[in-house]
Amino acid sequence: MSTHKRYTGLIEFYRDRLPVSANTRIISLGEGNTPLIELHNIPRIIGKDVKIYVKFEGLNPTGSFKDRGMTMAVTKAVEAGSQAIICASTGNTSASAAAYAARAGIKAFVIIPEGKIALGKLAQTLMYNAKIIQISGNFDQGMELVKQVAELAPVTIVNSINPFRIEGQKTAAFEIVDELGFAPDYHCLPVGNAGNITAYWRGYSEYARYSASHSAVTRNVPIMCGYQAAGAAPFVVGHPVENPETLATAIRIGNPQSWDLAWQAQKESGGWFAKFTDEEILAAQKLLSQQEGVFCEPASATSLAGAIHDINAGKIPEGSTIVCTLTGNGIKDPDIAMQQCADTQPVTISADLDAVKRAILDNL
Ligand SMILES: *Cc1c(COP(=O)(O)O)cnc(C)c1O
Repeated sequence: MSTHKRYTGLIEFYRDRLPVSANTRIISLGEGNTPLIELHNIPRIIGKDVKIYVKFEGLNPTGSFKDRGMTMAVTKAVEAGSQAIICASTGNTSASAAAYAARAGIKAFVIIPEGKIALGKLAQTLMYNAKIIQISGNFDQGMELVKQVAELAPVTIVNSINPFRIEGQKTAAFEIVDELGFAPDYHCLPVGNAGNITAYWRGYSEYARYSASHSAVTRNVPIMCGYQAAGAAPFVVGHPVENPETLATAIRIGNPQSWDLAWQAQKESGGWFAKFTDEEILAAQKLLSQQEGVFCEPASATSLAGAIHDINAGKIPEGSTIVCTLTGNGIKDPDIAMQQCADTQPVTISADLDAVKRAILDNL
């Protein structure tokens, strides 16, 4: 414990494993070092002898794991002299890009699908003062436009096709192995563009090689489980999906950019892809909030929905240690949260002691 450095952001912390030099000006908001929370109640509720941890990435500076990649991508863009960055986004990438651009003093352009961005993400992106371009189209169309326009204008793409994004995001796997002292048996995460499953697999693989050469403890690497929303499940159906649909807007993606790398992660780890309905995803989001006090956004809960399903099905055996990535914070999407609680609206009573007392005693 006493060997822990004060945490100043993931680039400083894992400097020797990231592509920076002593002269690099690091653009950081103190991202990374997120809690790995062991679930105490859900394993008991499902009646299985498993250890489930959630890596709560919603506690990054802008509320999602995107900050891990963005600190690297913006650091390298600035190092290369770029004055502007651009991304297509389902919401969290735009919020993160906007924040790190503000920090660096450069411009951010974000292309988003009109009406399909959770309210909190839109509010953040506006506050960080990015130039928001809404298209009447989906993420996949926005992504194609970004790739084309970056050929014509002096802007650096900071989507996960930017290799530095993956480099930054791989540190989440480092943190998990550092904290557990070994790699988990299974790692479950939601898959949209598939940059994150690619990054975790690289992180675990690099850590295993690094440990082998530093004689530290390891249990090799986990089996990677990639979970998608039923209406946006290209990895499950085996080809891009034309009109992806899901309430979990962060993974409303039909044409994943890291297609080959995600298949490589699945094959090399011996893992699998599976899909879950919006109802199953929302049920997992609510279960996690109500039983463990951890509030993630809908897309994030896909990892837990999948883990619970595959544990119950025996695909993930008892005795396993499982880590689920919770990619984003629940307060990102207040509209879904309010809909989830439509049957438990707050009561309104008069402002007197008797009425308050009764409201408490009646509900104990
Ligand atoms: C971006 C995002 C995802 C999907 O990650 P990919 O790297 O695109 O697969 C999942 N959940 C949330 C909350 C996200 O913001």
